[in-house]
Amino acid sequence: MAHPDNLSPSVIPPQGPIGISILGATGSIGQQALEVVAAHPGRFRVVALTAQSNCERLIAQALRYRPELVVIGDTGAYPALKAALAGTSIQVLAGAEGLEVAAAWPTADRVLTAVVGAAGLKPTVAAIAAGKTLCLANKETLVVAGAYIRRLAQRHGVTILPVDSEHSALFQALVGEAPASVHKLILTASGGPFRGYTRAQLAEVTVAAALKHPNWVMGAKITIDSASLLNKGLEVIEARWLFDVPAERIEVIIHPQSIVHSLVEFTDGSLKAQLGTPDMRLPIQYALAYPERLGNDFPRFRFSDHPSLTFEPADGSVFRALDLAFAALGAGGNRPCVFNAAGEVANAAFRAGRLPFLGMYHALEHALATVPQGPEDELEALVAADAETRALTEAFVARQPQPVS
Ligand code: NAD
Ligand code: MG
Repeated sequence: MAHPDNLSPSVIPPQGPIGISILGATGSIGQQALEVVAAHPGRFRVVALTAQSNCERLIAQALRYRPELVVIGDTGAYPALKAALAGTSIQVLAGAEGLEVAAAWPTADRVLTAVVGAAGLKPTVAAIAAGKTLCLANKETLVVAGAYIRRLAQRHGVTILPVDSEHSALFQALVGEAPASVHKLILTASGGPFRGYTRAQLAEVTVAAALKHPNWVMGAKITIDSASLLNKGLEVIEARWLFDVPAERIEVIIHPQSIVHSLVEFTDGSLKAQLGTPDMRLPIQYALAYPERLGNDFPRFRFSDHPSLTFEPADGSVFRALDLAFAALGAGGNRPCVFNAAGEVANAAFRAGRLPFLGMYHALEHALATVPQGPEDELEALVAADAETRALTEAFVARQPQPVS
């Protein structure tokens, strides 16, 4: 599906500006995507923008980029948005269904899914059903319903271009290579702010410390998931569905400098890696413009800034989320969906001070041990498993002693 030499012909961009719909425009990825658009006048045309609740930022973006449609998830913010855009030709919608309208917007050639969490599932399905080329940042969707999304994309002849830096690196390394010559996918992880910590040390960490990522500035949810390595677990599952490589041939290695974004090992023992500064605008730009490589004046990698690049094993026995993700992927069925839903609830609970850091791992273990197994590619069953896991994990969190702050 995402093999660069085997893509749907519809991925060829139009001669004129590429019409782009951005779901989650006010977030970290969404804002950086708009920077990419601004850096290439005439190459892109923003046709739709959505946000959940940040009305002020959405208004500013709409006035600057003049899309045809804006959508605010929070219906309470609709009057303010509508009033601010009165006198323009911009259409305004509110609510979750509006996101699906933006995903299938007629003038969109590409849809960037940059919403956070399983909320990305329905709009992703809508974009695929409308035949849009997907620029996928919202990894949770592939974790919840990877088999289903893969099949749906194949049926509609839709190409999924990865935005996640590791998957963009893998995609770039795969150019010109036959799928049969791929031996292994090796995803790099920075290790986050707690790299090298013992379990006892992890038990004591604070939310503030977990929110300080050493290399990347990102949304709060993914920053916490990076500290726990749950994010890397999600990425392993994402890679499985994007590149059709089984879990046994996906590996994770810690690379604290975040310069080597990932590697492919081929059957002859050769390795191909993609390197660059830790700047999400690069993979975003690559996906938005693919197969064209656009120039830019973003800061460049210099060897003198990085005299040594280091690598060390990832310890999934301490950073449990990683081992649990591999186990969920290996077990198949709805296990990755359960893993994701429990992870989302646990992440929010940790950020709210309702769960200690290691409690996130306990919540995952509890959900995976409790929610029954189910099919991997029936959307309704997955949505039900997601809801059941959230309710059960909320109850689990409520039973925990409150962390001492
Ligand atoms: P963020 O929290 O900064 O932004 C999320 C965006 O989604 C916002 O525009 C918000 O309004 C919208 N949103 C939030 N909840 C929503 C809901 N329930 N329904 C609809 N819209 C909603 O998040 P981010 O860091 O930009 O991450 C977005 C996605 O990209 C995530 O899936 C993340 O894993 C992935 N990703 C992010 C980075 C990064 O550097 N930030 C890197 C790789 C992958
Ligand atoms: Mg990543």
